[in-house]
Amino acid sequence: MKDSIPTKIIGFGETLTVELTDALSSETLGHIDYTNQVIRLSEQYNSKTQLSTLIHELIHYVDHFSGMGLEENKIEAMENGLVALMKLNKQFFKNIIEGL
Ligand SMILES: [Zn+2]
Repeated sequence: MKDSIPTKIIGFGETLTVELTDALSSETLGHIDYTNQVIRLSEQYNSKTQLSTLIHELIHYVDHFSGMGLEENKIEAMENGLVALMKLNKQFFKNIIEGL
């Protein structure tokens, strides 16, 4: 599972670096730094939580660029909903990825 955390994410006209770190405060699972194009994930959590957190930070990223201005609870709801749908429909999401 650890290999499933990418070190790079291609963004909108930029490449984001994904880092695992122990430098985040204890309750912080992740953070996106728009200035330096870095997503930091806490290495204190397991890879499933890190992947879900990466989705969360990517929703922040889309929100940032779209100007939707979603509140944190809406970002969390999107994360939870998308991750649940991905788990329930693994083959479908695999097909989407392979078909893109
Ligand atoms: Zn957030």
